[in-house]
Amino acid sequence: MPKTLFEKIWNDHLIAELDDGACLLHVDRVFLHERTGGIALSSMEAEQRQVRNPGHVFCTMDHIIDTFPGRGDATMAPGGRQFITSARQATRRAGITLFDVNDPRQGISHVISAELGVTLPGLTVVCPDSHTCTLGALGALAWGIGSSECEHALTTETLRLVKPKQMAVRLQGGLAAGVTAKDVILHLTGKYSASGGSGCAIEFCGEGTRRLPVEARMTLCNMAVEFSAFTGIIAPDDETLKYISGRPYAPEGGEWDKAVEYWRRLHTDAGAKYDKELHLDLAEIEPTVTWGTSPQHAIGISGMIPDPDKESNKGTRQAMQRAMDYMGLTAGTAINTIPIDAAFIGSCTNSRLSDLRDAARILKGNKITRRIKAICVPGSSRIKREAEQEGIDRIFTEAGFEWRESGCSMCFYAGGEGFAERERIISSTNRNFEGRQGQGARSHLASPATVAASALTGFITDARNMAIQQ
Ligand code: SF4
Repeated sequence: MPKTLFEKIWNDHLIAELDDGACLLHVDRVFLHERTGGIALSSMEAEQRQVRNPGHVFCTMDHIIDTFPGRGDATMAPGGRQFITSARQATRRAGITLFDVNDPRQGISHVISAELGVTLPGLTVVCPDSHTCTLGALGALAWGIGSSECEHALTTETLRLVKPKQMAVRLQGGLAAGVTAKDVILHLTGKYSASGGSGCAIEFCGEGTRRLPVEARMTLCNMAVEFSAFTGIIAPDDETLKYISGRPYAPEGGEWDKAVEYWRRLHTDAGAKYDKELHLDLAEIEPTVTWGTSPQHAIGISGMIPDPDKESNKGTRQAMQRAMDYMGLTAGTAINTIPIDAAFIGSCTNSRLSDLRDAARILKGNKITRRIKAICVPGSSRIKREAEQEGIDRIFTEAGFEWRESGCSMCFYAGGEGFAERERIISSTNRNFEGRQGQGARSHLASPATVAASALTGFITDARNMAIQQ
């Protein structure tokens, strides 16, 4: 029987089909962060439960730590110090590798899990964080879990799961210059709604997917969860292997050869069936920005804020009106005329070196509008170092951006640092719901290129119109 990529990994990890229709799967890697990891480990300790395989569990400091230069143990949120201390103590007692605040390997969990080679094709990878699906870009079956599931996975290396349906999102053609994977996923969500992938494991496939660099594939898979998918996944290819080779936790020598032999089988067989298929022509996508408080409120940069009165469904009409009121916008306004107060480049969606390079090409030799607060937070300490070696930090700071330490930072408002009430942010993050980046703050999701271009002009701007420096 021909099989999809998802089915192959699922079957390779299937321990048992349970009586209630769920399945028991083997879990290869658990990634923790200081916010939920310390809690899970402490709770297990209290009940005298052990971590079954500490060698396959990793923890980072990303959610609560401050991102100001010279941060030490400072935290974004009041009371956050407790999370840091508890994660340190619990990981030490359990024998788990911790990427601590000053560890050169520290960074946002989903960024460093790929960067360090912890995630590999064909593995099952879980983390108590929704955007674990990012790692599907390497051909892993990766998904976010809750805290009790986390304890279960740590204790047993297994999880109980109802098998999701399977969807293919087939990308055809190539992206126009100035259009990125972020625009693709926002376009997809805008076109098919934020529930378009509900209950499905989505395989991004087709020649358009294969043409995307690995880091762009991570952006695509990162936001699969904003499309309500269980996860996103992409078949590993030569580009994936090139990305993984030499990473600290990647196999070497004979082990590498054996692994590659297995990874080469990780693709969907001809004739395998999905429950649903969607098609996108990449050439038709323009830079895309959200106007409202859901990722589905996404429109092309040349579009207008839609009119709720033209929506026949009452619930949708009311939701659109509420979003418009929260965002302080009126129907019919051209999105590329909206003034902004702040610009943010960071998060597990768009804080990799290629994202920073995209933005730097636009910022180079230019200054942001004076009244704008602009912040760049690299996704990992390694990305920060590499960007500094290339002089990208100077391009950002000379343009007027703050250059921060790595972490989740203001991607989410952790009760500490955030953007101000009614402040309008053009943001490379993945969530724009009410209060996500600060109480009453208004986030417009966009690519790093759009964020950089908008910071220069002071309003939401089409990066394709900017002079690009090489
Ligand atoms: S960067 Fe934002 S979305 Fe990503 S893991 Fe951190 S808080 Fe979550």
